[in-house]
Amino acid sequence: MQMDGSSMIFPSSEALPQSPLPARPKEPHSPERELEQLRWARSRPVCPHCGFRHAYRLEGSQRVRFKCARCRKQYSARRGTVMERSNVPTAGWLTALRLFISAPGAGLPARIERATGVSYKTAWSMVQRMRAAPEDPLILGLRQTTPPPG
Ligand SMILES: [Zn+2]
Repeated sequence: MQMDGSSMIFPSSEALPQSPLPARPKEPHSPERELEQLRWARSRPVCPHCGFRHAYRLEGSQRVRFKCARCRKQYSARRGTVMERSNVPTAGWLTALRLFISAPGAGLPARIERATGVSYKTAWSMVQRMRAAPEDPLILGLRQTTPPPG
């Protein structure tokens, strides 16, 4: 029996169905998309004002916003998370959240400062927010997709 059975185990690339290219979004890997997917993993956006689950997407220059189809109020994916009312860009927050989940121990503010470019003071306050909100939907969402440390 041949030990190198890789060609038998793994189908060749030719065997894989060639899926048609999906319509290309403007920013395929934008932090805003990632935030949206984390915030409402496996569900539609939920209105923080009335709980309705149908909304219109408003694509602005930087951030995606939603407009509730029932109460007509607008909200962003940051609403109700540690990112709410923060000036730190979404990409910086996502980096900080990953650091918080993978290695929450000593020196976290300094590591966030280095990784994101925010000031130490800002990084420190981000850590306070994350530590105060273990049930934050973004933290819970990231924990589901990140293997535990060690
Ligand atoms: Zn609403």
